[in-house]
Amino acid sequence: MKAITGATMIDGTGSAPVARAVVLIDHGEIHAVGSARQVQPPEGVEVIDAQGMTLMPGLIDTHDHLASFSYEIASRWGIDEPRSTRHLRIASVLHQTLMTGYTALRDAGGLDAGFALAVDEGLVPGPRLQVGLGFITPTGGMADRVSPLGYKPPAGEDSGLPWGVADGAEGMRAKVREMVGAGAHVIKTATTGGASSAAGLGPKDILFERAELQALVDEAHKRGRRVMCHALGGEGLRMAIEVGVDSIEHGTYLDEDPELLEMMADNNIFFTPTFGVYTFHATHGTPHGKARAAALREHHVKSVQMAMQYGVKVTAGTDEGGWEHGNNAHELTCLVEAGLTPMQAIVAATSHAAECMGWKRQIGSIEPGKRADLILVEGDPLHDISILERGNAVKYVMKDGVTHLDSR
Ligand SMILES: [Zn+2]
Repeated sequence: MKAITGATMIDGTGSAPVARAVVLIDHGEIHAVGSARQVQPPEGVEVIDAQGMTLMPGLIDTHDHLASFSYEIASRWGIDEPRSTRHLRIASVLHQTLMTGYTALRDAGGLDAGFALAVDEGLVPGPRLQVGLGFITPTGGMADRVSPLGYKPPAGEDSGLPWGVADGAEGMRAKVREMVGAGAHVIKTATTGGASSAAGLGPKDILFERAELQALVDEAHKRGRRVMCHALGGEGLRMAIEVGVDSIEHGTYLDEDPELLEMMADNNIFFTPTFGVYTFHATHGTPHGKARAAALREHHVKSVQMAMQYGVKVTAGTDEGGWEHGNNAHELTCLVEAGLTPMQAIVAATSHAAECMGWKRQIGSIEPGKRADLILVEGDPLHDISILERGNAVKYVMKDGVTHLDSR
């Protein structure tokens, strides 16, 4: 058994911080939690003295692309460097991300299931992983990664993942089965274009026929998989919510239709806004990408503010990968800039994120019976959320009861 004592605890549920908290950890699990008066460490246990620090649950990113390193097509196909180099690069990102305080992460496309296996086996240090493998969309959609000259990667390239294009309801069912067979923990789809998609496939352009999306969602749910749906605005956004996907990714134009926010709150559909990626596209994107990102900015901010008012659960997702890795916590700064309190931003990156991933009972808060994924932070993130960025103030990381970083 281990004990962490003396820290101010933010437990991830949104409750007020607890001063001089004591957390007991046994067999990788949180055994007891309380103030020093309520919980005393038994004689002889290893005590981690965290006086003056902030104790939090490990952070969770619900939308990352750990295997992405550029928006260039050759890089997206994974053919611009040897496969071994790419794999070791990803392993390095996994390690780096864990060291910044992220103990769980959902990969929204690009990472194959072998990395989750490697982390679970302890081959490489990294956050707990849920992988989506790749987008599933109809021909011409986000999954159809054709080069500007019309080339497609030869079979077996594209990082060894299943090609994500399917058409028609039966095609969608078969593709979901193929993704699940290849190890997908979650099904990723897109009902609209985005900032980085081709000219002509914009944020409000719809990709799916309703019967196709219904079949995809139904098949995913039958196989116990949640559906995370990239949807920015227009009819594709409405269709995703009506058909019953489990989370809306980006959701930049939700503000234009408050009825959608009501439906999301009623059906517990999560909202993962992604501010970091649009800051990148607004400054470094293609000409049409820049214009799209600039145009959606104020809607995105308003959508998040309205989502909070309507009681939609917001989660922190970066869409990181194409331009950087290792600063997942920048999204928390963005959420606070968009109007969330620092406590709400922390909830978005802990308990709400865990619930969004279907891991509510295992992780996301500091409560007895949950896995011991814990971090210690120097300073008070409720005073300044940006201290979490790049893990600058993160001095201690525990995952599953095992210490991975201790630089106190
Ligand atoms: Zn993404």
